[in-house]
Amino acid sequence: MLRSTGDRVVIVGGGIAGALLARTLQNHADVVLIDPKEYFEIPWANLRAKMEPAAVERTVIPHTEYLTNAKVVTASAVGVDDSVVLTSVGCTVAYDFLVVATGRAMCTRPQKREERLQTFEQDKARIASAESVLVVGGGPIGVELAAEIVMGNPEKRVTIVHGGPRLLMVMGEKASAKALEWLRSKNVTVLLDQTVDVAAAGVSPDDKVFTTSAGETVAADCHFVCTGRPIASGWLRDSFLGDHVDENGRVVVDEHLRVGKLRNVFAIGDITDVPEAKQGYLAQRHAMVVSRNLKLLVKGGESREHKLHRYKASKVNITITLGRRDALSELPFMTVIGHLPGAIKPRDHFISRTRRMMGLKLSARHDQSMFRI
Ligand SMILES: Cc1cc2nc3c(=O)[nH]c(=O)nc-3n(C[C@H](O)[C@H](O)[C@H](O)COP(=O)(O)OP(=O)(O)OC[C@H]3O[C@@H](n4cnc5c(N)ncnc54)[C@H](O)[C@@H]3O)c2cc1C
Repeated sequence: MLRSTGDRVVIVGGGIAGALLARTLQNHADVVLIDPKEYFEIPWANLRAKMEPAAVERTVIPHTEYLTNAKVVTASAVGVDDSVVLTSVGCTVAYDFLVVATGRAMCTRPQKREERLQTFEQDKARIASAESVLVVGGGPIGVELAAEIVMGNPEKRVTIVHGGPRLLMVMGEKASAKALEWLRSKNVTVLLDQTVDVAAAGVSPDDKVFTTSAGETVAADCHFVCTGRPIASGWLRDSFLGDHVDENGRVVVDEHLRVGKLRNVFAIGDITDVPEAKQGYLAQRHAMVVSRNLKLLVKGGESREHKLHRYKASKVNITITLGRRDALSELPFMTVIGHLPGAIKPRDHFISRTRRMMGLKLSARHDQSMFRI
């Protein structure tokens, strides 16, 4: 067992929220990051990675590269009590302060960085050799992926099968209609109110014909499931924190992002029940609020309770990237699509900015790849 030294902060989950928190706290507390992967990945580069893997190598970053003064435990948390976290590799990690940042389950993500980069290459090869591609799910990820494919390869036949009555349910009806019109103008077939169960009996990875719930058949040489991953709070359910997990699997937090009335347990990122869109840049804001609060608590103990920072839920403008040049933005007073919103979003998908936040510089090689994106 790793013993506590009085200021030990254990962060469970090395996604965009947990990784940033660990980096900003590492010189102020005794930080341990628990994550089943050896690396942190910038999620918004994920779809471009399927088209241009070499250009986004710098988005898969070993935890040890930005954590020079923290300990990393490569394992999943499988349980927790009021003083230790139990891991899948059998060791327990003692904490004085616990931060739950497990976001969404990444069941199939490889443990090693090199293997993760290989999956990008494999996806690229699958798309390159396919004449037709099926995208299951018409949320932000499915729409962005279909756009990436069709803008890079206009000759490919792309079909989106979506279970809802309109695309992009996280946005308003105008945005859905504009996305549909844009996709159809690029010859993407969109089937609404239908599902495809790719895990169903009889569907093998080599299958090329899929039948939807409405009985339509879709021929596709390869497919991608973009239906969203489940919230990764299963490890908390039978623990002393189980009562603070709501019916959607989200952890209930107060205005300081603390769990229940517990002084020393926080939650950040997609796992929280904060009533706002689940976006990475908001997860980063959670991390910064908890970082400041933990710096106060670790140093000053209970005497600093009244100084704790509050987090206010944000109403966000969502932007969907549509290939290299176009985007769809839902602003407070209008919804716009095309080159204009596309020009506002940086060509490199905020990769440079995210690396800078993590204290990582761009190398000459990375600078070159940035311009290719
Ligand atoms: C393709 C894609 C594109 C996106 N584009 C954007 C965008 O442009 N802008 C934006 O703001 N947001 C975007 N998002 C949303 C954004 O990525 C999420 O809001 C953000 O990743 C949430 O961060 P998180 O750290 O809370 O959780 P996650 O990123 O889900 O990370 C959770 C971490 O916890 C780990 N974990 C899970 N279970 C356990 C366990 N039991 N024990 C230990 N560790 C565990 C996982 O391995 C992972 O490292 C995008 C998401 C995707 C998938």
